[in-house]
Amino acid sequence: MPGYIRKMRIDILTIFPQMFEVPFGFGIFKRAIYNGLVIINPVNIRDFTHDKHHTTDDYPYGGGAGMVMKPEPIFEAVESIKGNVEDKEAELPIILLTPQGRLFTHKIARELAKHPRIVLICGHYEGVDERVVENLATDTISIGDYVLTGGELPAMVVADAVLRLVPGVLGSEESPLEDSHASGLLEYPQYTRPADYRGLKVPDILLSGNHAQIAKWRREQIIKRTLEKRPELLDKADLGVEDKQLVQRMMHTDKKE
Ligand code: SAM
Repeated sequence: MPGYIRKMRIDILTIFPQMFEVPFGFGIFKRAIYNGLVIINPVNIRDFTHDKHHTTDDYPYGGGAGMVMKPEPIFEAVESIKGNVEDKEAELPIILLTPQGRLFTHKIARELAKHPRIVLICGHYEGVDERVVENLATDTISIGDYVLTGGELPAMVVADAVLRLVPGVLGSEESPLEDSHASGLLEYPQYTRPADYRGLKVPDILLSGNHAQIAKWRREQIIKRTLEKRPELLDKADLGVEDKQLVQRMMHTDKKE
């Protein structure tokens, strides 16, 4: 993957740092952290408060329901991690997770995976003070058009999708290049042994050993299922002449049925 860096670090500003021990403590990410390819650094926003109750939120100016996360500890937490020597030359993306952000996609994950380091800020309650949005964050990301109680799950989603693109993080048994959305389309169907499970058979072509025919079948499946499940992706995808003909043929067959 040209342009991709070898190591990546994600600092995650949160009031619940322990939440990150689980998703990155197993399997692929545990191995990547052990091998030094990935650093996940949860930063406790409470450590940057100065009152005896370690207050990170307060009532909203103007009234209304809920609490708002205070700006001071978030600014100070970012300043403390930006102070590291190695970051001085790097442009550090500081990303606030918010349902008002740009919608997260594979393309954005690829964009972020090019950076040696990014910072994620997790909000809570009614969200964070707008001065963080306007004066500290360099980007805002939403993981979907729904509202969660906190930014920790969105941060995990973003970190997972980004870090699996760092070369070496996935073993040879997984390929990020063929996954759904990597090419802008959905992946072909996958099967494994047994070839016949309770009479449910794996398509004969996959058992044929004819690699050219298998590749052709898979390409047809990619187009077919994208057309069936996410037709809008085909409009944006970079399709060759043969793919376009396939789409036309499938659409024509659909209309006739
Ligand atoms: N009052 C806010 C609004 O209407 O935009 C929603 C706040 S939400 C209850 C609390 C926090 O959860 C947010 O600050 C954000 O960090 C996180 N969050 C919730 N839904 C999210 C989403 N879809 N994408 C990213 N972050 C989200």
